[in-house]
Amino acid sequence: MDSPINDPVNEQSAATLATELAAPTVSRAYRCQCGRPVFLRNSECLACHTPLGYVIDRLGVMPLAPAEGGGALPDTFTVFGDPHGKTYRRCANLMTPAACSWMVPAAREGEEAPADVHGLAPGYCLACSVTRTIPDLSVEAHGVFWGKLEQAKRRLISQLLALGLPVVSRHADPVHGLAFDFLSNMPGGPHVMTGHEDGVITLNAEEAEDAVRERIRAEMREPYRTLLGHFRHEIGHYYWDLLVQPTHWLDDYRALFGDERADYAASLQTHYEQGPPPDWADRFVSSYASTHPWEDWAETWAHYLHMADTADTAMSFGVDATNVELTSDLFTADDLSQPDHPDAAKFLDFINGWVLLTNVLNELSRSMGQPDYYPFVLPRAAVGKLQFIHRVITEQRAGSAPTMVVASDVAATEPEPAEPAPEQTQTQTQSQGGAQS
Ligand SMILES: [Zn+2]
Ligand SMILES: [Zn+2]
Ligand SMILES: [Zn+2]
Repeated sequence: MDSPINDPVNEQSAATLATELAAPTVSRAYRCQCGRPVFLRNSECLACHTPLGYVIDRLGVMPLAPAEGGGALPDTFTVFGDPHGKTYRRCANLMTPAACSWMVPAAREGEEAPADVHGLAPGYCLACSVTRTIPDLSVEAHGVFWGKLEQAKRRLISQLLALGLPVVSRHADPVHGLAFDFLSNMPGGPHVMTGHEDGVITLNAEEAEDAVRERIRAEMREPYRTLLGHFRHEIGHYYWDLLVQPTHWLDDYRALFGDERADYAASLQTHYEQGPPPDWADRFVSSYASTHPWEDWAETWAHYLHMADTADTAMSFGVDATNVELTSDLFTADDLSQPDHPDAAKFLDFINGWVLLTNVLNELSRSMGQPDYYPFVLPRAAVGKLQFIHRVITEQRAGSAPTMVVASDVAATEPEPAEPAPEQTQTQTQSQGGAQS
């Protein structure tokens, strides 16, 4: 353990957004104890067969070793190179179509259950515990759908945790907690709409089928439609409820995005009947963002998450677009919503770095005949909104004591919920009353 490459446990992460921007993000370049790169979906190193798992305490995929001595229970692990550290079990969804490689905190013999398992469905990791309804697995294709949905959701949740955003399950907070329902259209039933309502995020599971999603994308004339994009949009609605609506941010939000008290249903109807305003591209990140201030927030929020994850990943692997041979119109301090903020110059560097990076990524995509990597043009008006979102996230992280807000914060003293494990709930209920799309 004397060279950095063999010391993943104590490794200092490469330059990331965190260093560039003082943003609360982490490296996406995970490494096995053998030094080889490993990825979010891996549960074993393909080279040396060391078991791997995502450990929330470390915000990353870690090499594991079977826990030994000191009351270690069977089938528990410690992080490789840390035999006296915390012990973990595999998530109960490792061998299901969800193929979850995340770890669940586990006690040693005689110890009390770790605080951070409260709010988890028994046996399941945090990412799986926020799934409330999975697709009906008696339908053959649904296993694959479920796997794709969970994979995209793990990408989402790992980023939220890295950003220091609260990820609280419905088990821990039955009122404001997060729950995901993956539903399918039933013969004769209502069409399942993707949306958010009071912490419950509904996704039509058929969106996991590429052909279906591509058909809808073309019909809606969207430049981009992915499962991860859906999740990042819908979670934006969730965090608006949590971080903006009841806080001091609300007035600034309305000044930038508009007044969300405008009739939501009527706004959507106008959008679908008349299309977006002719100048939408000058004011919004997408045409859908022009429907209503809530949708503008959710769309811009999703773009912030796209940008932060892509920039972090690029920097984690040493990809730096600042030397690219491309001229671009870059943004200036005039485009910010708060140009005198101490972080303003760094944020501007981040946005302009993003413009350069995506110019290159788009050209790379075209050289393979693929759709553009980032098929959007950021208007100047969106930059101020993105800076606002950046400030909301940064401030909330600074104010939340533990970096990892696990479900335990809300109901640490409540007994284990006697609710079924995620995959046992396969009802097809719907409540789209006051939901946002
Ligand atoms: Zn290895
Ligand atoms: Zn899991
Ligand atoms: Zn929406």
